[in-house]
Amino acid sequence: MKITILGSGTAVPSLERNSSGVLIQEEDTNTLIDFGYGTLKQLLNLGVTYHDIDRIFFTHNHPDHMCDLIPFLFGARHRPAARKKDLEIVAGPGFQEFFDKLMSAFKHWLAPSEYSLQISEIDEGSKKFGCHQVTFKKVRHIEMSRGYRFESSSGKSVVLSGDTDYCQGMIELGQGADLMILECATPEEEKLPGHLVPSLAGKLAKEADCKKLCLTHFYPPCDLDVIRESVSTIYGGELFLARDLMQFEL
Ligand SMILES: [Zn+2]
Ligand SMILES: [Zn+2]
Repeated sequence: MKITILGSGTAVPSLERNSSGVLIQEEDTNTLIDFGYGTLKQLLNLGVTYHDIDRIFFTHNHPDHMCDLIPFLFGARHRPAARKKDLEIVAGPGFQEFFDKLMSAFKHWLAPSEYSLQISEIDEGSKKFGCHQVTFKKVRHIEMSRGYRFESSSGKSVVLSGDTDYCQGMIELGQGADLMILECATPEEEKLPGHLVPSLAGKLAKEADCKKLCLTHFYPPCDLDVIRESVSTIYGGELFLARDLMQFEL
């Protein structure tokens, strides 16, 4: 299982950090988790086009996690190179209604021309999607927010929070994971409701007992040395601070 951080940034546009998005590649399957602005271009940097994505999971529908779905759907209509492969989008409750409004706002311009698109709304539980067993749980951000755990056929696991505050759901999802990708939006003294700060991310990772921790979703300015120091005093596993196009092989 190869995991690429497409965007390690946030709502604030940045040349250094694109908005949220992670690509999981396994057995010729390309799975996208979140599709924030800038990540469509990052996919192109990896040689992955709108033909190649098999399934998209959304943690929630804030713009920094989903806006590049618009150019993706618009481009995928383009003849003679229109997308042919069916597409499934997976997200929490309320996403279908949001998606229908988005489609109607753009009239027919985002509608698939030569492929079919299915929205699967999930709540909490576990289900097989392609080559992965996927477990999903509510996390503390907005009503729709879900965290995901992907397990490969070889038993490796990656867990992704999207945006979340400290919560039991995320600790349960992350139990013993090979890699947990957690948001860490702001420094301690600027804590935002519904988001983590370094000490809470460290506490969560420690309680989940994950093998590796990758922190992402850094609002500028962020002092990576301070984050590393603060998290390492709490969490003893291997710690990574995400940058765009960072890769993990599990
Ligand atoms: Zn966000
Ligand atoms: Zn958000």
